Amino acid sequence: MNQCVICQTNRAQVIRPKNGQKICKSCFLEVFELEIHTTIVENNIFPNRGERVAIGASGGKDSTVLAATLKALNERYDYGVEFVLLSIDEGIHGYRDDSLETVKRNAIQYEMELCIVGYDTLYGWTMDKVVEMVGRKGNCTYCGVFRRQALDRGAKQLDISHILTGHNADDIAETVLMNFLRGDLPRLGRCAEIMTASPTSAMKRSKPLKYAYEKEIVLYAHYRELDYFSTECVYSPEAFRGNARSLLKELEKIRPSSVLDIVRSGEQLVHDAIGPNKLRYEEQNEWYEGGKGSENDKHILGNLKSPPGHGTTHQTTDGSRIQTIGVCENCGYMSSQPICKACVLVDSLNKTNASVGVSLGGGQTIH
Ligand code: SF4
Repeated sequence: MNQCVICQTNRAQVIRPKNGQKICKSCFLEVFELEIHTTIVENNIFPNRGERVAIGASGGKDSTVLAATLKALNERYDYGVEFVLLSIDEGIHGYRDDSLETVKRNAIQYEMELCIVGYDTLYGWTMDKVVEMVGRKGNCTYCGVFRRQALDRGAKQLDISHILTGHNADDIAETVLMNFLRGDLPRLGRCAEIMTASPTSAMKRSKPLKYAYEKEIVLYAHYRELDYFSTECVYSPEAFRGNARSLLKELEKIRPSSVLDIVRSGEQLVHDAIGPNKLRYEEQNEWYEGGKGSENDKHILGNLKSPPGHGTTHQTTDGSRIQTIGVCENCGYMSSQPICKACVLVDSLNKTNASVGVSLGGGQTIH
């Protein structure tokens, strides 16, 4: 490879997928961090000095790179923000228990407080038990509903109202494609935004890695020798996302800038097509990242109907529809339904458990 096009001194070791630039390792690290800083500044992600902000930490490459870069940038540019690591323990043996060990090491390495919130404590169910009960079809629907609320609850415990997630440009491009193929414009709008707030959540959520390519995140983690966990969940991700990922890889082969092009297209669609009339943060759009589209989700969640007066929508003068919010009559957490989705799912699990099995001492069930 030739000389680095930035410093003109070192040998180029990296070809950047977003623009084809050939650069050296030290320029790559500098540019990668600078681009994240630019994203933070341009979108005013940290408007308040002294704020405590949670980083959703899984121990994977994205959230580890997010924590590492934010620590470096906070020190370099003095955002005046205190970061706290917030992890969710879904109760998946052989996956989450190992990745949480990585997060515990990260907390020491980055000198950040760590809070771990478990499904077992919040809902009385681990994902291992959920899968034992419902099988592998639809398990991600339960997991996604539980995780979203668990993150909010964890942040609330920490008295924090802003959560950062490690979604990268590839994740967002996949989600834009999925929502486009489903014709789900409200969700498409939400996934393309860098910051979201919701009437069903007291939390603001931001994605500082929104414009960072997955390949560069892996490279950054490699060059910085970051300590992260790279095993996939044993209960496998959604098939539809896998198809969107394959499509994106094929597009990238023909046009390397496809990832960012699709992210930008999503933003443009939000602005041009759905901006004026979108249903802002509709309750049914609060399902897990996989979206509302699968028939299985509809089967699992389709019984939820909002009676008049609780979680209703109304139209504003600019044509937007805004949803009002109440609290769950069961757990007291914010919900646009009389009973929140997490409580409905827990209730259905408990009823199924009581009706189909005889519980043995160790939690084992005979069907
Ligand atoms: Fe949960 Fe599904 Fe993700 Fe596994 S793949 S962590 S079950 S949402």
